Amino acid sequence: MLKNKDLAEMVPALLAWFDANARILPWRENSDPYRVWVSEIMLQQTRVETVKPYFDRFMRALPEVQSLAAAPLDQVLKLWEGLGYYSRARNLHRAAQVIVEQHGGVFPQTPEEIQALPGVGDYTAGAIGSICFGLKTPAVDGNVLRVMARLTGFTEPVQTQAAKKHFTCLLAEIYPENRADAVTQSLMELGAMVCVPNGAPRCGECPVRHLCEAYHIEKTTEIPVKLPKKPRRKEQKTVFLLYCRGKLALCRRAESGLLGGLWELPNTAEFLSPAQARDWLIVQGLRCISIKAGRTGKHIFTHIEWEMQSFVCECAEESSAFFWADEQDLQQNLTLPTAFQILLQ
Ligand code: SF4
Repeated sequence: MLKNKDLAEMVPALLAWFDANARILPWRENSDPYRVWVSEIMLQQTRVETVKPYFDRFMRALPEVQSLAAAPLDQVLKLWEGLGYYSRARNLHRAAQVIVEQHGGVFPQTPEEIQALPGVGDYTAGAIGSICFGLKTPAVDGNVLRVMARLTGFTEPVQTQAAKKHFTCLLAEIYPENRADAVTQSLMELGAMVCVPNGAPRCGECPVRHLCEAYHIEKTTEIPVKLPKKPRRKEQKTVFLLYCRGKLALCRRAESGLLGGLWELPNTAEFLSPAQARDWLIVQGLRCISIKAGRTGKHIFTHIEWEMQSFVCECAEESSAFFWADEQDLQQNLTLPTAFQILLQ
């Protein structure tokens, strides 16, 4: 197992490598906490290439924390449309309001205050603290856990709170007085570009190979050790595309839970036969001019998988049970999660 003294040796090698190889990313233009915060929230569970256009669009529309705080939630969700995990956008919006109302619009600078913001956990607080304010607060996510587990030859599962705490403490001890920002970013960069999550790590390009325990004991494919994944729960749904004179029926999901508070296409939590689908429409008070089978689709969330069938119906009149969205609503105002968009004709 790598000793702390040796671990400290990795810092200069890592920083020299980072200085020469860091990718140019839009959120690295400066260390403005608003930009770093938004990017870190977007990057959770999402690839860098996917985030880039979303980040640019978000910054153009809401360039500072005051504009985010003042924006209607629907605008924030629309800017997030397609990124998934929408609770991130809701928390971002709430946290911006907290920053404006409780901190006079100035981003808080202590770890405790940063972490008290809605949606900000240990990792994001560590990233903002070190990148923006030079604090010795490591940001330990899955990438950093993998890198650190390999470097130190850690043979326990890495997805536990104990492992996270262990590596957070180890790193806090070796953060230098200056350049905390670069240490955080270089670990992230190493995890993204060299000590990669999928496939074999690129040890030949690694600046800290000489210190790496997993490399020396030839266990880079066995480490990190992971807990077995829980199987996803499968749910079947029948989704209705209800049209009336060019408008599409939508309803709101419950505030809490999966896709909480977002718009959705009306649906049932089971597969319906065509006869059952007609009965469902009658119960909703809808008179249908035509009904036909629509697209099928599958959408995978972290812990749940939706298997969907759909019916496309032309309705004789609108029913007050739904919101009837026109083209402009769908394009500009309302957020319809990708899970439902894949069924649209
Ligand atoms: Fe990862 Fe290989 Fe570098 Fe070790 S030597 S940190 S396994 S890339």
